[in-house]
Amino acid sequence: MRIALDVDGVLADVIISWLNYNNSIRPEISKHQITSWEFWNNFNIDRYDFYTELSSCWKNWSSIPTTEKNLSSITKSLTEIGQVDIVTARERSTNSFVKSWLDHHEITYDNYVSVIDGPMKADLDYDVFIDDSPLNAKKFLTHKKNVILYSQPWNQNLSENNINRISNLSEAIKIIKSF
Ligand SMILES: [Mg+2]
Repeated sequence: MRIALDVDGVLADVIISWLNYNNSIRPEISKHQITSWEFWNNFNIDRYDFYTELSSCWKNWSSIPTTEKNLSSITKSLTEIGQVDIVTARERSTNSFVKSWLDHHEITYDNYVSVIDGPMKADLDYDVFIDDSPLNAKKFLTHKKNVILYSQPWNQNLSENNINRISNLSEAIKIIKSF
């Protein structure tokens, strides 16, 4: 079983860091208000600015919180049932920060795979994708991949039957065992 594990929004709650920054320079937004993937349109924020700021948050990686506790033991359990690769879409310059963050939180994984944009992940040879992006999830389905959607405010509208929605990463273990 080859498992592709996303970072932003699944392991790293990087939106919290971005919100801290955003709220210091623009009108305040809270996480529950981010109810769509392209939320920047609702707040008149330029998409390019958002992604640039997100990359800046990664430069300050040590302040990015985890999405939940015990990610170290949960990812260790995942590697016992399959090959777990970190598969992440990002600006190349941030990869070293992400790796430092993963090490710091003792996340267990086999390989680190970086792609230019999220939907490109679907072209990679994995049996299951654990991701929070509704756009990626739809593309995984069209490629007949198993999808485990990590529940976040921005993916609540996605309700396709064959998507396994989880609220905690530990739920992924039981689901993968059932594939
Ligand atoms: Mg993500």
